[in-house]
Amino acid sequence: MGFKKTPNVIVTNEKPCIKNTNCVFNDRTVISNHFLKIFSRYSFKSYTVFSTVIMHTNSSSSPLQNPPNLIGNMQSSETPTNPLKRNFETMINNPKQSTQYELDVFKVAMGRNTIAHIDTGSGMIAVMIIKEFEKMFKEQLSEKKLIIFLAPTRKLVEQQCNVVRENTDLRVDFYHGSKASTVDDGKKVDDWDAAVWEHETDKNDIMVMTPTILLNALRNGFIKFEMICLLIIDECHHASGNHPYASIMKEFYLESVNKPKVFGMTAFLANKKGASSTGNCEARITMLENILDSRVYTIQNRTDLQDVTPTASANKSLKITEKSPSGADVTPTASANKSLKITEKSPSGADVTPTASQNKSSKITEKSPSGKDVTPTVSGNKALKITKESPSGAGTTKRKELHGTMPIRAVSGTWGDNHDDGVDFYAYGISFVCSVKDVKYSSFVLLLESKLDDDVANLEMRLYLVSKFVNCKVSSCAKLHLDARQVANGKCFQELFFNGIYAKFFPETDPKLWTPSYMYLLLPLESLDPFEINWKMIDSCVSAIEFVKKSSVSSAEKQNVDSIMTYSENTSMIHFANKCVHKDDITNMVVLAIHTGKLYSVIDILQDETACSPFDGDTKKYSSFEEYFKKKYKIDLVYPAQNMLMLKQSHRAHNLLVDFNGEGILHGKKIKAESCKVNTDRQRYNARLPPELLVTIDARLDVVKSLYLLPSLMHRLEALMLASQLREEITGHMTNIHVSSSLILEAITTLRCNESFSMERLELLGDSVLKYTVSCDLYLRYPNKHEGQLSSARSSQVSNSTLYNLGIVCRLQNYIRDVAFDPTRWTAPGQLPSRPCACDHGVETIEVPIDTKYHTEDPKILTGKCCDRGHRWLGSKTVSDCVEALVGAYFVDGGLTGALHCMKWLGISCELDSSRVDEAIKIASLHVYTPKLDVLQGLESKLGYEFVVKGLLLEAITHATDQNPDQRVGYCYQRLEFLGDSVLDLLITWYLFNKHKDIDPGELTDLRSASVNNENFAYAAVRRNLHGYLQCRSVTLQTQISDYVKFVATSSTDTNSLQTNKSPKALGDLVESIAGAILLDTKLNLDEVWRIFELLLTPIVTPEKLELPPLRELIEYCDSKGYFIKDKCRRLGDGVTAELSLQLEDDLLIAEATSPTRKVARGQAALKLLSQLENKGILRKNQGEDNRDGEIGNKDVKKNDTTRSNVTRFDPQLAANTSIADSKMEEESNSKTEIPVIKSINKNKGGPRSTLFELCRKMQWTMPTFTHSEEKSRTLIEIGEGVDKRTAFNKFESEISLNIPSYGIIKLMGEPRADKKSSCDSAALLMLYELQRQRMLKIG
Ligand SMILES: [Zn+2]
Repeated sequence: MGFKKTPNVIVTNEKPCIKNTNCVFNDRTVISNHFLKIFSRYSFKSYTVFSTVIMHTNSSSSPLQNPPNLIGNMQSSETPTNPLKRNFETMINNPKQSTQYELDVFKVAMGRNTIAHIDTGSGMIAVMIIKEFEKMFKEQLSEKKLIIFLAPTRKLVEQQCNVVRENTDLRVDFYHGSKASTVDDGKKVDDWDAAVWEHETDKNDIMVMTPTILLNALRNGFIKFEMICLLIIDECHHASGNHPYASIMKEFYLESVNKPKVFGMTAFLANKKGASSTGNCEARITMLENILDSRVYTIQNRTDLQDVTPTASANKSLKITEKSPSGADVTPTASANKSLKITEKSPSGADVTPTASQNKSSKITEKSPSGKDVTPTVSGNKALKITKESPSGAGTTKRKELHGTMPIRAVSGTWGDNHDDGVDFYAYGISFVCSVKDVKYSSFVLLLESKLDDDVANLEMRLYLVSKFVNCKVSSCAKLHLDARQVANGKCFQELFFNGIYAKFFPETDPKLWTPSYMYLLLPLESLDPFEINWKMIDSCVSAIEFVKKSSVSSAEKQNVDSIMTYSENTSMIHFANKCVHKDDITNMVVLAIHTGKLYSVIDILQDETACSPFDGDTKKYSSFEEYFKKKYKIDLVYPAQNMLMLKQSHRAHNLLVDFNGEGILHGKKIKAESCKVNTDRQRYNARLPPELLVTIDARLDVVKSLYLLPSLMHRLEALMLASQLREEITGHMTNIHVSSSLILEAITTLRCNESFSMERLELLGDSVLKYTVSCDLYLRYPNKHEGQLSSARSSQVSNSTLYNLGIVCRLQNYIRDVAFDPTRWTAPGQLPSRPCACDHGVETIEVPIDTKYHTEDPKILTGKCCDRGHRWLGSKTVSDCVEALVGAYFVDGGLTGALHCMKWLGISCELDSSRVDEAIKIASLHVYTPKLDVLQGLESKLGYEFVVKGLLLEAITHATDQNPDQRVGYCYQRLEFLGDSVLDLLITWYLFNKHKDIDPGELTDLRSASVNNENFAYAAVRRNLHGYLQCRSVTLQTQISDYVKFVATSSTDTNSLQTNKSPKALGDLVESIAGAILLDTKLNLDEVWRIFELLLTPIVTPEKLELPPLRELIEYCDSKGYFIKDKCRRLGDGVTAELSLQLEDDLLIAEATSPTRKVARGQAALKLLSQLENKGILRKNQGEDNRDGEIGNKDVKKNDTTRSNVTRFDPQLAANTSIADSKMEEESNSKTEIPVIKSINKNKGGPRSTLFELCRKMQWTMPTFTHSEEKSRTLIEIGEGVDKRTAFNKFESEISLNIPSYGIIKLMGEPRADKKSSCDSAALLMLYELQRQRMLKIG
């Protein structure tokens, strides 16, 4: 949709500017990186036909010239010139003018936290949302609630306040810096005390203010964040860095239990200055979404697509056309279909089009048996068209594409309508064991028509609930035959339970809810071993359904049904709709409410309430419950005097796959459990109903409880089925390659799924595997091509767009999982969708055709969420990432054979067979080496490897300059270097991948790039004394090498500075080419290469020894220990002297260095400090591999080891990267001798810790440590006293320990609290008071 417009065109054809592979652009040519990329990709094929280059670019080159029209479809007759400048008053007064966009935004915003594109100053949608809250304010407010409307400027604050005031009946006032109090002698806002604020919050419902005022009021506790029920943020794009918007969200929103709804408005999402590239823009949006805990709402079907991205040329295509040999200009047709077309002749003469066609055979692998150049001669009038939509073509993050989702074959069933003879099922038992002993869950059985793969059918996993978890075990059971009646009854059970709990149950279920593509039964078991289905319960469901059917025929007949029961005055009997039950037997009974179709369990009898009691909702409308049921449901209660029952409604479905308590660890990083607000809503799940409206079901409560677990379990199970389906596609029934379904699942799961696994790590590995196999294949295939040609061929073969095309042909896009599990959209067969999402993509089929009309670059299109047909937008790059990840997965479980098989399936055929290796070896064996034999032997002994083919080693050490005209050797190491580079890349990546299973994928990437680089290899070459073996005749190079060798020798104690010293590239190349030579000599034995190179590279490749720039290393060390560094810089003549001081527990270390620049001076000072730490034995070089924290001083080691699991340093979030005080702090250093003063302590959550942290930083005291103890209970415990009194299931106590230099350690025990952080706050607060008592601190 982004390409329909004809782009503005600049044609530059001044002179032919491309000549062979060397391109020279004249000044007036607009060079696009992308063009260069395209060019380099094909340059291998030695295009000589380029004679003219025409490039189309957009005429407006500045991304900031045209602010994006974000609400492109808004139309207004009044201001036709600029629809954005509409006056909001006119809009509000004429609600009809609300565009669909605004209504959409409103709808979405009511559902979730939203950031919307809204013109500055427009309050329309905000007013609509406020009006919704107004209803709530009028109905039921047991406690004070506030709506806070933030705007960044005074003018906007007043303006928005007026809009709200004019359009709602709520009490509203505005607050900004110049606002004066009406009650307290006209004091300005900043000076208001608690009393003034209390007055203001009491008298208003809505407070419009600047963020600074809110932030201060919150910090001082004048406004309790919990009071806020709606937070509207105007111009919310400011929320970043230290802006008060961001601070409010970080300090208060994130910490709060009852989070308010957030609605952000901005007109400048994609247009902020500085956000010059789109990647940047997208990152900004993501960041904004994270900070505001919201998601941007976008218009998916806008017709008027304006430029919304900062790069003006984003949607314009770059076209390259060339002259055909006949000399005729070929006009670049601006056709609608602009898919990549490269029409070239293959050696066989057939046209090959590497487009993403469904035809697999169209893949090109450049084969040229003779190894000749593959020259794409352009035939006749057929022009070579490279019509490439870029800078953001296939395989880029920017391009988004609509794709479908693959139906899972294993959950399909043909038995839906016709099961007279019964059905044969494969049965899979599901059992649950809870971490809390006496919590029981009923076992279930999953009945499928298909047989699952063993590694899917036998599965163990964990589900997380509030303060407990459940271990689930799926195991395959014998085949099972159910007769027709049993199948029908099973369907009844499923309809009743899943609808009754997650939707609404009504007896006339839509038969369409049982579709052949999604057909299975989940039935409760009496016991798993021996296997016995709980038919008694299922039959009870059937009779309950029968009863409801009968009673709903007509109310007159219903009367008859009711009268079957003999009503007695015996008050110990409770009259349910279908039977009487003794009141002692009702607890935990499962009941179905006839009028709502919901399932409940009975908690208790409400002794004082009957249907005649006053209604608890809108008392104006209904005087009593009896009246409520009569008016609302047309039900006449027969026994209105009967006591009502308190009922528990099941929770809505939650995602139990992530650790609920927000403590889930994903790759070493904390992940946010989005749907963990369960216990806060506890109250809401209780209902009060008269028993006569309830049908009893003879079901145990543990069945209902299991139902709560099933959506999450089935989600994972279905995902594994999908993975094993893909596996079958790739491997078929090959028995020699077995890749686990969970690994494939990992490869098709993106980070956005918020699972504990995702494809990034496999992608990284797969990238290396592809690079290696393709390099190896090219090396062997083209013995006469030089390194540059091989490199460009390789980049083209493993480029994202190539991989993307391969992935699309294999329909991999439909397998990719790119959205977090949304349990509210999961349904069982037979269950009504509770949140349907109709398809508006205009695609009737499940699969989306490959067509540019389903491509977009609109940054507002959100990826992930599926419509009911399973269509979703997917980042184009995700497809190529997934290709890499799959190759990685096959490499992990299937080795190189597995990876090659997977690549073959994808359409990349690499032949690494021994005959070709022999061929390559034969060529090398012809190298004359006799005079250099002693050199080779010396090197061999250094390497610890003896070459079979000495010529390979000789080639590996021969530099290109070793080309004496008289004595041409005719070979050099470059080709081997090309090969060796990919070998080392793979080996090191594989090593890191295995060694670090728990680190963040990003960290793994960092490790790889830190390990696989020329600097490291060069260093290894020098350290192992390999440099002397380089055969080279360049004097310059030899000088460079000896300089570098000297440098390494003199700086051997601080290798830190190596990173900054540029080593001669030849040295790194030498190491790589030796790796390539050994690979060939061992006939591609990767293990053998690694055996040699692991030794050669060892001190570099382990991340523990990863060399950090000294200052960064020092800061990281201090952060980990809670120490503070002070940094003072002063000018001294031409130089800068930096003084760094580091206060240890009982020692002050100072280091000074002078250098021309501040940066270098600080670095050198840091180096000195590091070596001081080393000398003291505090910081050990080459720290233990698995004990990065283990470098603490000797005396502490023991203490740390025993209590380690329990001790936390100061909240790392508070302390992050702050341990180095900026030099601006210089003047403060004197204050160290004085008693510090704190104005007041913020008692809100996090406040005492922040205050103490600030104090420590100022005084350079080591950060305090906390030791926690936790008490868990099945029943609620009371914690705290007075207003702080709370009840919870967990109780935390924290002991704080603060070491004050030359004073000693103070230890205090804080008060018990319901959560860990609060207990730390309590301890921190006590510490502050204790410091005051000891006269080390003044408060107030
Ligand atoms: Zn759709």
